[in-house]
Amino acid sequence: MKSTGKVTGIVSNLVTVECNGPVSQNEICYIRLGDTRLRAEVIKVNGKNAAVQVFESTRGLKNGDSVEFEDKMLEVTLGPGLLSSCYDGLQNDLTTMTGVFLKRGEYTDALNHEKLWEFTPLAKAGDKVVAADWLGNVKEGWLDHKIMVPFSFKGEYTVKSIAGAGEYNVDKVIAVLVNEEGEDVEVTMTQRWPVKVAIKGYKEKPRPSRIMETGVRVIDTLDPIAEGGTGFIPGPFGCGKTVLQHAIAKQGDADVIVMAACGERANEVVEIFTEFPELIDPHTGRHLMERTTIICNTSNMPVAAREASVYTAMTICEYYRAMGLKVLLLADSTSRWAQALREMSNRMEELPGADAFPVDLSAIISNFYARAGMVVLNNGQTGAVTFIGTVSPAGGNLKEPVTESTKKAARCFYALEQNRADRKRYPAVNPIDSYSKYLEYPEIREHLAERIMPGWVEMVEKTKNIIRKGRDAQEQINILGDDGVPMNYHEVFWKSELVDFVILQQDAFDAVDALCPIERQKFMLSLVLEICDHSFEFENFEECRKFFKELINTLRQMNYSEFHSEAFENYYQQIKNILNNGK
Ligand code: ADP
Ligand code: MG
Repeated sequence: MKSTGKVTGIVSNLVTVECNGPVSQNEICYIRLGDTRLRAEVIKVNGKNAAVQVFESTRGLKNGDSVEFEDKMLEVTLGPGLLSSCYDGLQNDLTTMTGVFLKRGEYTDALNHEKLWEFTPLAKAGDKVVAADWLGNVKEGWLDHKIMVPFSFKGEYTVKSIAGAGEYNVDKVIAVLVNEEGEDVEVTMTQRWPVKVAIKGYKEKPRPSRIMETGVRVIDTLDPIAEGGTGFIPGPFGCGKTVLQHAIAKQGDADVIVMAACGERANEVVEIFTEFPELIDPHTGRHLMERTTIICNTSNMPVAAREASVYTAMTICEYYRAMGLKVLLLADSTSRWAQALREMSNRMEELPGADAFPVDLSAIISNFYARAGMVVLNNGQTGAVTFIGTVSPAGGNLKEPVTESTKKAARCFYALEQNRADRKRYPAVNPIDSYSKYLEYPEIREHLAERIMPGWVEMVEKTKNIIRKGRDAQEQINILGDDGVPMNYHEVFWKSELVDFVILQQDAFDAVDALCPIERQKFMLSLVLEICDHSFEFENFEECRKFFKELINTLRQMNYSEFHSEAFENYYQQIKNILNNGK
C-alpha cells in the first residue's frame, strides 16, 4: 500500500507533508496540482511529517493539496540509448523537447522505445547467474553494451530461456530467469536503479593501478590521474576550469564519457549541447557524442533537480562500468551542487555548518567521490569510473568548505591560479600546489616505468624541482635586481620558464597542441630535461635571456607541429644544433 498525505506548509521548493502511512528517506512522491502532478523527493522524515523537495516550481500549491507517495526512490532508467543523449537531472530527454523547457509536471521518456538494437545472446538456457551478470550484447554505436541481470535481483537465478540474435527494442523480454523460489522473472533490455545508491555487482574494488591518459601535459606528465581515480579542479571564475574539463572530455582515454554540467554561466549549458555533437573523437575519428551522455542543469531548474543531476550522472557511469568499460565522469561545477544542498538545508532550518553548508557536507562529498573507482567484475574483467569535478570557490578562497571537503575526498588536485590565468599561461594549473597522490602508489610508479619509460617518476620529480628552484630564483631576482644576483640565478630561472612554456602551457584551441599523447609527452620532457641538465655558464643575463627565449620559441613550434612531421624534425634539429654549439 502506497502512503498518501496532505501539504501542510510551503517554503519555495520545500514542502511539508502530513502523511497517513509510512514514508522513507529519499522516497519519491507526487503532489497533485489541478491536472498536473509535481514530482518531489522526501528529504527528511519526522514522525508522520515529511519534508519533501519539489523538482519544479511550486507556484499555485497550497496547504491541503494531496500527495501520493511512490514507495520507491528517485531512479534512472538504464539501457541502450543512454549514449549520445542529453538529459536534465531527472533524465528528461532534452533533445526531444521543444526548446530546453518542459512544461510543469511533464516528464519525458529517457529511452527511445521504438528504436531497434542488434542483440546477441551471451548466456544460454541452464546458466546460473546473479545480478550484473551479462546476458547479452547490444551494439551501441561501436561499443558493446551488455544487457545484464538487473542489479536489484537478489540471489542466484537459472536462465530458462534467452532471445536469439536479432533486432529488438528496449522493452523486449530478452531472457526469462528462474529465481530460487522457482518463479519465472522476465528481463528486458532496460532496468531502473535508485540514483543515490551505488551500484554493486562486482567482485572487488582494488585500488587503481594504471593511469588514465588525458592528453593534457600538465596532468599526464606532472600529476597523472589513475584510471578509476578521482581528481578535482578548483579555480576562480574565468581561470579555465571548463576549458580544461572539456579538453579532458575530448581526449581522455575512456570508452564512455558522462558530463554533468551545472553551468556557471547561463549560456554555458546551451554551448555544451550545441558544440559537443560537432566534435570528433581523436581516438576513433567518429563523433564524440556517440560515446557521451550529457546531463545538463538548465537555469530554470529548481535546486532539487540540480542536486539530483550529479547522482544521475554517477549512476549511468556505474552502469557502463559494470559492462567492463572505462568511464570518465566530469562534473562542472560541483560547487553548484553544494549550493543546492545548502539551499535545501537552510530551508529546513537545520543547524548549519561552516558557511551555512549542511553539517554533513564533507561526508556527502566523500561518499559521492567514493563511488568512482576501478572494479573487478564477477567474470574477472575490469571496469572503471574516473571522476574529475571542478569547484568554484568564491573569490578563489581555497579554504572554503566545498574546496576543503573535496580535497579530502579526491586524490588529485589541480589548482587553477588567478595569476597564471591573468598572464595567459594556460592551462593555469599551479604546478607547485597541485598534486596526484597516485604518484605515491608503488603499483602506479611501476606502471609508469613500464608504460612510459624506466625512471619516469624521477624525471617528473626533477621537473617539479626545476620549477620550484625557478620560483625561488625569480623571487631573489625581483628583490635584488637582475645584476644583484649571481649569474646562475638567471639560468635557474630561465630553465623553469622553459619547463613552463613547453611542458605546462598548452593551447586548448590549437588543432595540434590541444592533444598531446603520452609518447609525445615523453619525448618533450626528455628533451627539456636534457637541456636543463646542461650548465651553460653565460657571460651576462641578457645573453642568458636571449638564448632561452630562442630555445623556448623553437620548442613551442615543436608543440604546434604534428609529432615527427618534417617541420617537427626540423625544429628538433635546430635545438640539437643550438645545444651542440653551446650558447
Ligand atoms: P572557468 O570555467 O574557470 O570560469 P573557462 O574555462 O570558461 O573558465 O575559461 C575562461 C577563458 O580562459 C576561456 O574562454 C579561454 O579564453 C581561456 N582559456 C582557458 N584555458 C585555456 C587554454 N588551455 N588555452 C587557451 N585558452 C584558455
Ligand atoms: Mg566554467
